[in-house]
Amino acid sequence: MTRDRKHQPPTTAQGSETLLNVLNEAADGGYGTQFIAQEDGLIQCVHCGSASGPASFDIVHFRRLEGASDPADMLIVVWSGCPTCEAHGTLTLGFGPNTSGADATVLAALDLHGADASPAAPRVSLEQPTQRPQEE
Ligand SMILES: [Zn+2]
Repeated sequence: MTRDRKHQPPTTAQGSETLLNVLNEAADGGYGTQFIAQEDGLIQCVHCGSASGPASFDIVHFRRLEGASDPADMLIVVWSGCPTCEAHGTLTLGFGPNTSGADATVLAALDLHGADASPAAPRVSLEQPTQRPQEE
C-alpha cells in the first residue's frame, strides 16, 4: 500500500457536509430513527416497522448533500416524524444517475415545498419537567 500524499488528509470534508455528519447532527437533535424508502413507494420506520405513504409524513426539514464518491450523485436527507409511532428520524434519499427506483418514487411523492431547508437542523423539543439549572 503506497501513499503519495505527504501531508495529512483533512479530517473533515471542506466546504461540504458528509452524510455521516448530517445524520449525527440529526440524531443529536433527537431525530435518531431511520426511515427507509421501499420499492412500493412507502416509507418504512425502523423503529416500529410500519410502512406509511410519503404523504402521511410531516416533513419538518431537509438538506441536500453531494454524494461522497461522485458529486453527480446527490443525497437528500429529510427530517420527519413517523406517522405511526411518532418516533423522530431521518429519511435519506438519493437522486441522480444512480438513484434506485424506491428512492425516486418516494422522493417524487414527498412534498418538500413547505419544508424548512435552512442550514440549522431542527431539534425535538423534549419535555423537560422543571429541571433545575445546572451549575458548572
Ligand atoms: Zn414508527
